[in-house]
Amino acid sequence: MDSAWLLLSLRIALIAALAGLIGRWQGETAGWAFGCMGLLLLLAFHYIYLARLQRWLKQPDSQTIPDAWGAWGNIYIELYRLLRREAKAREQILSDLEVFSQAAEASPDGLVILDADNHIVWCNRMAEQHLGLRGERDAGILVTNLIRLPRLAEFIAHPGEGEPLLFRPAERRGSVLSIEAIRFGKDRKLLISFDVSQVERADTIRRDFVANVSHELRTPLTVISGFLEHMLAEPAPEEARHQLGLVSEQVDRMLRLVDDLLILSRLEGESQMLREEEFDVRDLIYEVSGEARRLSAGRHTITCEVVPATLKGSRDELHSAFSNLVSNAVRYTPEGGRIVLYWEVKEGKGIYRVEDSGIGIAEEHIPRLTERFYRVDRGRSRESGGTGLGLSIVKHVLMRHQATLEISSVPGAGSTFSAVFPAWRVTLPQA
Ligand code: ADP
Repeated sequence: MDSAWLLLSLRIALIAALAGLIGRWQGETAGWAFGCMGLLLLLAFHYIYLARLQRWLKQPDSQTIPDAWGAWGNIYIELYRLLRREAKAREQILSDLEVFSQAAEASPDGLVILDADNHIVWCNRMAEQHLGLRGERDAGILVTNLIRLPRLAEFIAHPGEGEPLLFRPAERRGSVLSIEAIRFGKDRKLLISFDVSQVERADTIRRDFVANVSHELRTPLTVISGFLEHMLAEPAPEEARHQLGLVSEQVDRMLRLVDDLLILSRLEGESQMLREEEFDVRDLIYEVSGEARRLSAGRHTITCEVVPATLKGSRDELHSAFSNLVSNAVRYTPEGGRIVLYWEVKEGKGIYRVEDSGIGIAEEHIPRLTERFYRVDRGRSRESGGTGLGLSIVKHVLMRHQATLEISSVPGAGSTFSAVFPAWRVTLPQA
């Protein structure tokens, strides 16, 4: 039994004992009257403290805890301790929150917290500068109403997928921001903005240089190629024809290189907006497989396994990426080999897969294949007419479509290259 019950029992026992004594001396009625009075007083005493507690609970404050004795004193002491503990915990949480908010404010990157419906919850000072927001004024407003960027809504709907979004604020000429979206907590999103103006400027200079050099080289190379073609058409000694043939091969290779460099610099140029169109993927894959059969000239078995679907994106760019993957399969698969082009939709995502039974690629080369001019076997690449830029082009085209490239291979057994497209780019035919 705890002390409160003990005290109450003692008090009731005392009143009963006194009532018994009075009953014996003064008669039974006086005894009962005393007992009832005593119990009523005890009840009133507890009622007064209960009322005080009720009054205090309406505005609890450790400074105004009422004084009391007996069991009520214990209750108030416990309440006081509880309040102290709670106040301390609140102080600790507030100070932790302050540290976090100071750290977020000190961040050199812009941070914007969005709720599940993309309304602004909070943003730091850098985000205000970068994106022209005002934390207090804009809280609760839909972010897409404040940041005018064509693909922002789509981008936020799929946080963590694809490449960061580039943003050129109209009010800050020459400045370029990279925006990333991350999902956190329960359906919240964090937008992070970095200033990439310097990197972009250096990149533009490099890109322009490569594009200009390629462009300058293209004209003389075309002229030389024309001359060589003309000379090869004329009668000439066998030895001279052989040498002219070799020169012509090299000139063609240089032309292919220059063309690939021009394609790459065009793809890298942010100014080049993606031409979005919906097209039948099966048609594109049949077209690409036809080209591959011409390139293979009957040396391989080339088949397609495709499901009907439409894909949203640039058909021209994807044609170039898809045919690059198949032409690699043809070039790196010995005669008699098998090449299969798949198009399938898994969990909404569209997958274009090229499987070959070719020479394969050792594990250590796979992470570097999409680097410019990276080749496993330089001689073989050159012999088969490669420029070393094919997979870089594929990677760039896929990046522009928020798609990823997955490569798996077993040396001597074959390779599989898969381009995985986000679900929002893929539409299945209505059943
Ligand atoms: P290349 O013009 O040299 O083919 P790519 O960028 O297309 O350049 O490919 C880079 C390298 O990846 C190639 O040189 C080759 O070593 C390797 N590679 C690409 N596709 C295949 C494949 N299907 N099978 C084996 N190796 C491949």
